Amino acid sequence: MSKTKNPPRLFLDVPLSENRELTLSPDTSHYICNVMRLKQGENIICFNGADGEYLCAVTLPHKKQTVLRIDRFLRPFAAAPDIWLLFAPVKKERTDYIIEKATELGISKILPVYTAYTNAETVRTERYRAQAVEAAEQCRRLDVPEIIPVQTLTNILKNWDINRIIFLMDESGGGQPALESFQTAAGKPAAILVGPEGGFSEEELLLLRRQPFVRGVSLGPRILRAETAVAAALALWQAAAGDWK
Ligand code: SAM
Repeated sequence: MSKTKNPPRLFLDVPLSENRELTLSPDTSHYICNVMRLKQGENIICFNGADGEYLCAVTLPHKKQTVLRIDRFLRPFAAAPDIWLLFAPVKKERTDYIIEKATELGISKILPVYTAYTNAETVRTERYRAQAVEAAEQCRRLDVPEIIPVQTLTNILKNWDINRIIFLMDESGGGQPALESFQTAAGKPAAILVGPEGGFSEEELLLLRRQPFVRGVSLGPRILRAETAVAAALALWQAAAGDWK
């Protein structure tokens, strides 16, 4: 029986189905016993990004080999809307914010991009992945956004599927208002592109504007920080074309 009112959520990268026992990896066991401090008989909600969500109970708390019993199916799997984020990594905490907020706001794929003025020394895909998992657990998502290894902007454009619109967040003010542009493209595969602290270079803007699948859009008259632009653009996209409708 549950001893907690709101059981914590945990992403597990293993198949889930009712009436099974799971022996967890040492890392996950450590997390459950030492970080979450769950005791025998306590409940936890598990999801794996494919099989939906299950209520589980800790049958054997152990620092290296915790055992869970999968008791009850709670919710069927539902994927986030088909919206991708292309972003130029910024400083560590600000990038953390981007990953967290993009996950909460329902992004399905995150593609870090090196641009001319990107000034993040290292791009830690594994760290991004851990952050996306944590945010998905917190916000009750049933999937975790896919994180793609960093690529240059030129490479991304070269291999881009022309059927997926890239909405270029363009602070020059020349583009259509983002909300209008998102509304007219509702139902089509799309991605949001946000530049680094220093913005895009002139060459990059020229290259982007030449692509038939790129649409420059504006987020208003003020220059937003990259992380604010990500959150604002995604909120507008969800309201205009995503699952906030
Ligand atoms: N160009 C400025 C600079 O040199 O610092 C600002 C870049 S801004 C901090 C980072 C990114 O946020 C921009 O490349 C753009 O994608 C997005 N952005 C910021 N304000 C925006 C706005 N009002 N409309 C559209 N995009 C914006």
